[in-house]
Amino acid sequence: MKDVYTFADLRDWRAATGDEKPPLRLSVFGDPVAHSASPPMHNAALEKCEIDARYCRLHIRADELESALRLLPQAGFIGANVTIPHKTAVLPVLDEVDDHARKIGAVNTVVVDGEKLIGFNTDGPGIVRAIRAEFGVDLHDLRVLILGAGGGAGRAIAVQCALENCERLVLANRTLDKAQALADELAPYFKSPRVLGPVARLEAVALDIDAIKRQLPNIDIIINATPLGMSPEQLRHSSFDIRHLPLLPHLLVYDTIYTAHRTPLLQATDDAGARGANGLSMLLHQGALSFEIWFNREAPLEEMRAALLASRV
Ligand code: NAP
Repeated sequence: MKDVYTFADLRDWRAATGDEKPPLRLSVFGDPVAHSASPPMHNAALEKCEIDARYCRLHIRADELESALRLLPQAGFIGANVTIPHKTAVLPVLDEVDDHARKIGAVNTVVVDGEKLIGFNTDGPGIVRAIRAEFGVDLHDLRVLILGAGGGAGRAIAVQCALENCERLVLANRTLDKAQALADELAPYFKSPRVLGPVARLEAVALDIDAIKRQLPNIDIIINATPLGMSPEQLRHSSFDIRHLPLLPHLLVYDTIYTAHRTPLLQATDDAGARGANGLSMLLHQGALSFEIWFNREAPLEEMRAALLASRV
């Protein structure tokens, strides 16, 4: 199996992959895609469940997306994941999109059903399971602050918080307009006054240490959905220094970054005596949910987790 296949390979899939045993019948579509940890995770699950299929990476550019998806039935695919930058662009191409994915406005899982392509989103439900697994609490019961609410991951998490009817939601973003637009969109979910006290249930704020400091007494969990902390360069070039958040010991901190190193935010969490977890569990649970959609059976979580841990850099 190659590390990455292309659209040209998909056009003649049997010639490109004919000798592969088990056959390649699942993939992740992305651009770039070489970094994706989904193949080792899903291949561990397929092997454990003795399913005669394997999962690969497909480098698909934006202008190839529709044609590539339409090739999946004839190439014998069971389904696919879609990642950056296709999660929103894929919606109009699909024959059906489930309600939940439509509300999130993004699809990360496609099922091939005969000639039909059906879209789902497991990123939102994945974070619900991840938070429950890491901290033993439900998003529904929490006052949540999302850093980077203007991006793809931040949006999926924010919409999921709204659908879960979480206690309180604060959307922080470098580009405040994006967080404000999302807050306006989600306002109908936060009409009832669940919280007693002076704070609003739903707010958009700038990604600024002082603005966030004012929010923290009324927050239970911080979810970082920015890439800040993935590499030292990113921290050097950002005016927002995530290492200097004035964290309090009562806080839960979930960093969606899933690199092997303890991120600067999680180091600061440890220093403050608060509880932190990284994004590996979100990646794991969104993958497990995709597997459950494709095969209508429980996913082997421990094998998937071990494969992710082994493949992480
Ligand atoms: P994205 O769509 O590009 O969004 C990036 C977000 O971060 C935006 O809100 C952006 O703000 C903000 N941002 C980017 N650079 C910044 C900087 N230098 N200073 C302040 N804010 C900055 O990216 P994404 O796909 O949502 O991914 C974001 C993070 O989530 C990545 O670290 C990725 O690894 C992680 N992720 C994890 C999982 C998982 O399963 N664990 C899944 C998906 C993503 P603006 O709106 O102002 O540009």
